[in-house]
Amino acid sequence: MSSAQHVTSATTATAAVVIADDASLTAFVPTTTPATWLGVMGGGQLGRMFAHAAQSMGYKVAVLEPAEDCPASHVADRHVLADYDDEVALAELASLCVAVTTEFENVSHHSLAFLADSIFIAPKAACVSIAQDRVAEKEFFTQCSPQSNVFPAPYKVIASDSDIDSVPADLLPGILKTVRLGYDGKGQARVRTLDELRSAYAEMNGVQCILEKMLPLAYEVSVLVARGADGAAVVYPIAENVHRDGILFTTTVPGPNVGADAAKRAQDAALALVGQLGYVGVLCIEFFVLADGSLVVNEMAPRPHNSGHYTIDACITSQFAQQVRAMARMPLGDTRQHSPAVMLNILGDVWFPDDSDQVREPAWDQITALPGAALHLYGKAEARRARKMGHITFVAPTLAEAQVQLALACGILGIALA
Ligand code: ATP
Ligand code: MG
Repeated sequence: MSSAQHVTSATTATAAVVIADDASLTAFVPTTTPATWLGVMGGGQLGRMFAHAAQSMGYKVAVLEPAEDCPASHVADRHVLADYDDEVALAELASLCVAVTTEFENVSHHSLAFLADSIFIAPKAACVSIAQDRVAEKEFFTQCSPQSNVFPAPYKVIASDSDIDSVPADLLPGILKTVRLGYDGKGQARVRTLDELRSAYAEMNGVQCILEKMLPLAYEVSVLVARGADGAAVVYPIAENVHRDGILFTTTVPGPNVGADAAKRAQDAALALVGQLGYVGVLCIEFFVLADGSLVVNEMAPRPHNSGHYTIDACITSQFAQQVRAMARMPLGDTRQHSPAVMLNILGDVWFPDDSDQVREPAWDQITALPGAALHLYGKAEARRARKMGHITFVAPTLAEAQVQLALACGILGIALA
């Protein structure tokens, strides 16, 4: 198992540095009378699990989210029901909370900057902005390569039809990706020729895209890092991810394909990137490992990440508890993993056995009977195909034992493993 690593990093001067570290900031320790409130922008499953962690540490949690019946609304102490850019709602959040974070990267820069005028925001708007935009993100990765020793995949910005005429031949076959608002493989098209690229770009309705070279992936990994306002940073063990139809399918830690050298390179790169950003909070960085063993940085999520859900059941400090600590300016927690783990995403498809249209609740009693299985359901009222409804983490004394339980669960849920 890769070991956790604790480092302290000084902020270095690059164009990407957005905030100064300050070890003298006092922590927002939880109090009961009056209660200490933490806020989160977004009410999905990440907001829900953040609320669980914050409440278990004694905080009250307010969620700002426009959807009424959302996963976090069932557990938050207050649900501010409003659009993410509603200034009255933002002011309510700011007056109630000592600090605010975000559970998704597409919250506007304006909203986070508005909140930052009066309260502590982690991560800062400038960090979230970089992660919202694939071009800014790739430029940041390239700029940091002297420190991180990793580069992004070769790419070209496609902002008009004429950009396609100057696409170098070696970028094909490639993947056309929208610059903004992509997730779970949405806003992407795989193209082999310039003609396919032209028609894929036409389908994107004129939004700015990048064409990224299709790389020969041996496997995919992600690294979670957390950094405090004082510049101290911690890194979690590297996770190996398998995607299906563009959506994360499983995360395995320790990854069966991951060697110690690749793990160290990815962890060192993640620590370098988080330091260069001057980031505060939990950040997840996705990497590709190519057939020749080289490491390529793919993208980053300025928040806890689906591939870090295993930390709830397999690590001393979960990624959500870590986010609470970072935003409350408390000391960061121990990232040590105590058990090998496999996380399986539960999509709405398993409510529709045999491809029928009849909804049937999966046999959770059989799942929970499996040794080491930790079931997490997000409280979403309607199961839809490809919708993330929950996850199961299998922990065991050995990875092989966890994988046996994974296979049994897939059998119960009707999920093909290979
Ligand atoms: P997420 O849900 O992680 O936000 P996303 O929709 O933003 O994903 P990416 O992570 O860029 O998109 O791509 C999704 C998946 O597509 C990757 O995990 C990888 O399997 C594959 N992929 C993306 N880019 C490349 C590439 N350049 N070469 C080969 N495969 C790629
Ligand atoms: Mg991704």
